[in-house]
Amino acid sequence: MEIAIVGGGPAGLSAGIVAARLGAQVTVIDDNSRLGGQLIKQTHKFFGSRTHYCGTRGVDIAAILEQELRKTGAEIVLNTTVIGHFQPNILGLASSQQFTKLTYDRLIIATGAYENNVLFENNDLPGVYGAGAVQTLMNVYGIRPGRRVLMVGSGNIGLIVSYQLLQADVEVAAVVEALPYIGGYHVHAAKLRRCGVPILTSHTIKAALGKEYVTGAVICRVNRKFRPIKGSEKRLKVDTICLAVGLSPLIELLSQIDCYLVYIPELGGLVAWHDENLQTSVPGVYVAGDVSGIEEASTAILEGRIAGAHAFLSLKGRDANPEAEAIIHDARQELAVIRQGPFGEKAARGKKQLQQYSPARPVIPQ
Ligand SMILES: Cc1cc2nc3c(=O)[nH]c(=O)nc-3n(C[C@H](O)[C@H](O)[C@H](O)COP(=O)(O)OP(=O)(O)OC[C@H]3O[C@@H](n4cnc5c(N)ncnc54)[C@H](O)[C@@H]3O)c2cc1C
Repeated sequence: MEIAIVGGGPAGLSAGIVAARLGAQVTVIDDNSRLGGQLIKQTHKFFGSRTHYCGTRGVDIAAILEQELRKTGAEIVLNTTVIGHFQPNILGLASSQQFTKLTYDRLIIATGAYENNVLFENNDLPGVYGAGAVQTLMNVYGIRPGRRVLMVGSGNIGLIVSYQLLQADVEVAAVVEALPYIGGYHVHAAKLRRCGVPILTSHTIKAALGKEYVTGAVICRVNRKFRPIKGSEKRLKVDTICLAVGLSPLIELLSQIDCYLVYIPELGGLVAWHDENLQTSVPGVYVAGDVSGIEEASTAILEGRIAGAHAFLSLKGRDANPEAEAIIHDARQELAVIRQGPFGEKAARGKKQLQQYSPARPVIPQ
């Protein structure tokens, strides 16, 4: 295969669309039964500009991208996990039916992210979920996760999922946030407050209550160092605790390929070092989307386009299709604009910091 893409979220789909349209042979592999990654569970309308599908629901963006990819004739392999990487340029694929190998010339890793957990007493009780799991239950399978929920985290994911819970007729007892301010867009927070949901900043969860499953939660105030303030504990009667406390890049495959990894908190933790074309320290191996640093679907789409076009260019050369360079140029410009905004600025800082490291000569910035 000329270009193999691991992950069929917005980053992998966009990389596949671009590379296949330019003229490369492309295979997109995803472990789910349908394409779209995180988008398939997102029923809310997106923000941003029209070129980034603003006003369209995530689940509909997934369908648009899938249709575009299918039109290119790219190969799509679903229900299949890439479980390993072997030298030289071989991926190990596992489905419920078989183990197979796939040899590639260029590889784009667009595996997305996993949800962070938080330490508190009884955090392994049934009824404690990640926000992504709650979204999957509700929006993909039509199953309510519980009757009364405590949401931990007021970033956009915590706020959006809280609102979706209300839409599914689930009560949200409160949103607790350890920071002294709300992390996500205020428009989402305002919607929740209008529905009577308290958003308690400088608060955290101390314990989940219950023996077999969650029957309640203890929350408390925290000081500036995020330490619980004694005597501020309060019990809430809930049957579900939903954690929306951030995401971390899913870098296992990149680590196996021996890509140079760097810890950048602004990008969500360990990421593979990459240049502005999204190429890692291993020539011919690219990253795109949340795996290259936690951002959003619009930036995942743009990074996918850059990685797809550059993988094509590096494989076939400039003369094969002059459009490739223009795609990279346009996507880079759009990324720069998005990263100027208040929510893109953190990722911009992270990407800049990444460039202080060099795969040949690792340095620790002061
Ligand atoms: C609740 C919520 C709300 C959001 N709202 C917005 C919003 O309004 N606007 C916005 O722009 N963004 C939003 N985002 C963020 C956006 O969804 C993500 O940034 C985006 O989906 C990242 O795209 P990706 O392609 O990098 O990863 P993903 O969408 O996570 O796709 C990665 C895919 O790779 C698959 N995969 C991983 N490992 C393997 C493997 N080894 N083998 C095979 N397949 C594998 C995964 O199963 C998944 O299908 C939101 C996210 C959440 C959770």
